[in-house]
Amino acid sequence: LVRAEAVTKNFGHVRALRGVDLEVYRGEVVCLIGPSGSGKSTFLRCVNHLEKVDSGRLTVDGELVGYRRARGKLYELRENEICRRRANIGMVFQNFNLFPHLTVLENLIEAPIQVRREPKAEAVERARSLLERVGLSDKERSHPAQLSGGQQQRVAIARALAMRPALMLFDEPTSALDPELVGEVLEVMRGLASDGMTMMVVTHEMGFARESADRVVFMADGVVVESGPPDELLRAPKHERTRAFLSKVL
Ligand code: ATP
Ligand code: MG
Repeated sequence: LVRAEAVTKNFGHVRALRGVDLEVYRGEVVCLIGPSGSGKSTFLRCVNHLEKVDSGRLTVDGELVGYRRARGKLYELRENEICRRRANIGMVFQNFNLFPHLTVLENLIEAPIQVRREPKAEAVERARSLLERVGLSDKERSHPAQLSGGQQQRVAIARALAMRPALMLFDEPTSALDPELVGEVLEVMRGLASDGMTMMVVTHEMGFARESADRVVFMADGVVVESGPPDELLRAPKHERTRAFLSKVL
C-alpha cells in the first residue's frame, strides 16, 4: 500500500530523511521506532502529504505522493487533488488536534460531509457507530475540552476512521497522555489492528509493538537501519545502533 524508495527530505541544511526505503503491505501493522530526530514524524508527514519529498519515490496505493506524471514529466499536485488523496489516509497526532468549538459528534461528521459530500444522516449514523466502537457513545454532545486526554484521543481516532481511510498513521498517539490513560487508547488501536486495518505507528510503547505489530522498523539519522518481526527485531537486533537504542527503551 505504501512504498518508499530512497526518499529524502531536507529542512534547509537539516537532512531529515536521507534515503528511506520501506514498504507497507495492505493489512500490515508497522511500528516505527528510533531516537528523537531520526525522521519518524517527517516520514509519516510525507506519506500524508504534509511535507513534500525532495527526491526518491513515494507511492500510496500506487499513486505518487505530491506529484503527478504527465508526458514523462513530474508536476506538483494542486491542493484539491492533494485533499482527495489525503482523504484516504487517517492521521492521529500526539496532541489530538480536535476542533475545539465543535461537539464530539460534529468533529466526526465534519470531514465526511465537507470532503466526501456524504448525506448528513449517513455521516451521523456512521459517527455514532464509531463512537460506540471507541467506547464513547455517551459523549457525542460533549466538547473536546470536557473530555480526558484518553477520551479526546479516542475521538481523534474515531474521527480519522469516519473518512473510511485505507491507511491509518499514528504519531506517538499516547505520548501526551497520563500513564493511566494510555491503556484505553492502545486498546482501541489493538482492536483496529486485529480488524485488519493497515497502520503505521510511531510509538515508544514497546508492549504494543511486540503484541500488535507485524513488523517493527528501526530508524536512525533519516534512514531505515533494520526492520523485522517484533520478536526478532526486539529480541535479537542485527545492528549495533538498534541494540544501543533498545537497551535504553526496553
Ligand atoms: P521525535 O522522536 O523527537 O518525534 P522524529 O524521529 O519524529 O523525532 P522528526 O520530527 O522527523 O524526528 O525530525 C527529523 C529532523 O528534521 C530533526 O532534525 C528535526 O529537527 C528536523 N525537522 C523536522 N521538521 C522540521 C521543520 N518543519 N523545520 C525544520 N526542521 C525540521
Ligand atoms: Mg516525531
